[in-house]
Amino acid sequence: MTTTNIPRLESIKENNESVAPALEIALTQLDRAADHTDVDKNVLHRLQYPTRVVEVSVPVEMDDGSVEIFTGYRAQHDDVRGPYKGGLRYNPHVTRDECVGLSMWMTWKCALMDLPFGGAKGGVRVNEKRLSETEKERLTRRFTHEISDSIGPMKDVPAPDMGTDPQTMAWIMDSYSMDKGDTIPGVVTGKPHVIGGSYGREEAPGASVAIATREALQYYDIPLDSVTVAVQGYGSVGANAARKLDSWGAHIVAVSDVNGAVYNPDGLPVTDIPSHDEEPEAVTTFTGDNISIIENDELLTLDVDVLIPAALGNVLTEANADDVAANMIVEGANGPTTPAADSIFVEREIPVIPDILANAGGVTVSYFEWLQDINRRKWSEQTVADELESEIVAAWDELVTVAEEKQIPWREAAYVTALSRVSEAKDLRGLWP
Ligand code: NAD
Repeated sequence: MTTTNIPRLESIKENNESVAPALEIALTQLDRAADHTDVDKNVLHRLQYPTRVVEVSVPVEMDDGSVEIFTGYRAQHDDVRGPYKGGLRYNPHVTRDECVGLSMWMTWKCALMDLPFGGAKGGVRVNEKRLSETEKERLTRRFTHEISDSIGPMKDVPAPDMGTDPQTMAWIMDSYSMDKGDTIPGVVTGKPHVIGGSYGREEAPGASVAIATREALQYYDIPLDSVTVAVQGYGSVGANAARKLDSWGAHIVAVSDVNGAVYNPDGLPVTDIPSHDEEPEAVTTFTGDNISIIENDELLTLDVDVLIPAALGNVLTEANADDVAANMIVEGANGPTTPAADSIFVEREIPVIPDILANAGGVTVSYFEWLQDINRRKWSEQTVADELESEIVAAWDELVTVAEEKQIPWREAAYVTALSRVSEAKDLRGLWP
């Protein structure tokens, strides 16, 4: 089959339209992966667009009696392999296109992990730090009501993201259940434990970063207890990854938060350094023998074995990629490496273990939570940990097979694996009607 369609990114640029960085990266990565597969051009073209984007106005009564109107989105990219899945963020920078780009990443992440989900992302454009708890609750309940026909355990299952948390998920679950008339825990994941949340959900993305690091080091025959590691961002992902790797014998020599980094070439006592959750932005208040404070940018170029960017997107760019001295990068954050930096790392033969594998522990345990909610049966903490370990190792083994067979870098192998699964499913189901 042939198509005369122009690739979406080219047509956006030809029309001089601006494109959100997340969407540009998602479309670029899709094109790069397509070069290594024989995916049907029409299927590829369909995957460049979301199935739908729901945009809603969310009127909220503020505590002072005034009414403010916020804009909310839910972008649903693809559901050929199962219900849409992805986070909801409350952030002033949320845009339609950003949600679309991030929803595409979720499609690939779920497919790479072989989870029966598609990809979605959404959010409300709001400075959530300026909302009181009651304003946040009213915003969440009204937003849920506005999108309630588009979500559901078999349709689209949101989860926490920037600016949202287990309490937000509890309000969504309650509002949705009230709308529908019965208690439906499977509509969201990342809930508090007592209303159907899973054990181990909070630690899962950091745990998968640690497991992916361990497997990659083993692949390159580097003993875990000989490596030095620098971690940017000491939040949920960064601190959990650092502490797990430390418990396995690695030397965590630098960790940072938004205020800067602490560095000790002999290793840091990571369990004593407060994580973002334990005491926000307190990393640089930690003192001790041989510990120095360095800038965040300096952390990224330290001479270490493994660099784990686990704070923000787009921190490894064309401007600093040549200065990175680490021998391996494991992506804890979503999208920390720009496509230009990625090309430099390929040229410099620095392996980059991609986010869609490394931090996929979050969505994997979300899948476990969804299973537990649907089956109304709890898993123990140990079962969750064992299942997570085996899912991440299985995905890594698959990645090794594809990367070796096609002689391509890890990120491309991840996208090729995901794209092949999604496009095969699309081929088999066909185009309706
Ligand atoms: P978090 O809010 O728990 O922690 C973020 C940490 O990054 C904080 O320590 C903060 O101080 C630090 N930080 C912020 N700006 C920084 C800067 N400029 N330089 C250095 N540090 C900075 O967030 P998190 O949940 O750990 O998420 C971190 C990243 O991982 C994000 O990209 C997120 O999208 C991604 N991620 C999170 C999950 C999850 O479930 N938590 C899952 C997958 C991916």
